[in-house]
Amino acid sequence: MSVTSAHLPKALLREEILALYAYHVPDSAGYIKLDAMENPYLLPQALRAEIAELVASTAINRYPDPSAASLKAKIHHVTNLPQGMAVLLGNGSDEIIQLLAMAVNKPGAKLLSVEPSFVMYKMIATFTGMRYVGVPLTENFALDMPQMLKTIQREQPALIFLAYPNNPTGNSFAAHEVIQIIEAAQGLVVVDEAYYAFADDSFIPRLADYPNLLVMRTFSKLGMAGLRLGFLAGSTSWLNELEKLRLPYNVGVLPQVVAEKMLQYHEVLLQQAEQIKQDRTKLFQQLNAIAGVQVYPSEANFLLFRVANATDVFNGLKQRGVLIKNLNSGHHMLKDCLRVTVGTPQENEKFIVALQATLTG
Ligand SMILES: *Cc1c(COP(=O)(O)O)cnc(C)c1O
Repeated sequence: MSVTSAHLPKALLREEILALYAYHVPDSAGYIKLDAMENPYLLPQALRAEIAELVASTAINRYPDPSAASLKAKIHHVTNLPQGMAVLLGNGSDEIIQLLAMAVNKPGAKLLSVEPSFVMYKMIATFTGMRYVGVPLTENFALDMPQMLKTIQREQPALIFLAYPNNPTGNSFAAHEVIQIIEAAQGLVVVDEAYYAFADDSFIPRLADYPNLLVMRTFSKLGMAGLRLGFLAGSTSWLNELEKLRLPYNVGVLPQVVAEKMLQYHEVLLQQAEQIKQDRTKLFQQLNAIAGVQVYPSEANFLLFRVANATDVFNGLKQRGVLIKNLNSGHHMLKDCLRVTVGTPQENEKFIVALQATLTG
């Protein structure tokens, strides 16, 4: 068969896909890795041995339980889900964002979020052909309520995502303002609690109060990033419909059994999160004490900070073996901003030493 230009990707793919840049994940081998909001701790050796045994006895020649009933029951329990609420599982919560977008995407439907926030909301709107509306946060990354309410009224978004706490800014929005948005919205509001383990508040206890509210969580930031497991919590009237869109075996048998075992030790993971919260406070104070560094308050397992010539600082840290996230070339409100994940105390110390050396060197 002769290949003509009509067969090339450029001719066959949607324009908005050709215009995208693939989500960039840098090679982190050999670095102190503080770029991706991972939990720096493994489980205690005894628990890892238990997992190894479990994996060895799992029938990986069989398809997984398509309903993941046993894992769901465990999630139900550790999450303290209110009466009448159910969960839908995703291959990471990224997959759930995509599923929600597909579900509500009537012709012309809009997805609304705030900016700066988690970039996947906008990317998935593009993947699925939804229209995207981004409402800027205020200068200190709070919700701009007059703009939010006006835009919701005007655009009538089918789907609103609010990350609570927000990524990459780290703050939680005022709960009463989130409630105002839920009440003003004609469409579905999803509160994305990816950082619930490091935060003081949650919308899960409020699920029953609002018929258009769903809460999404992931276990990625709690120590299971490699497993890829997220969930959506809400009333069965929503979840039974959304289940129709879920691909039958989207959560493999190994993630199912390993996550269930890890959730049996949820307390251990939450203790690690508690340690990370304490170290976050210390790291905040250390950054705050450095002249020329403006650090923002955080309820997550990372800190956003602003520094002159951020890209040079990012590169200087990298030369000294520390990889963080450079946000400088992203959203204009993040000019000269960098984001560091809270690591172990030793990693944090090495980051601070490397930062001081970079700034004075
Ligand atoms: C990390 C993150 C997610 C996605 O997590 P998964 O690893 O896909 O489960 C979702 N929302 C926010 C705000 C995040 O920071």
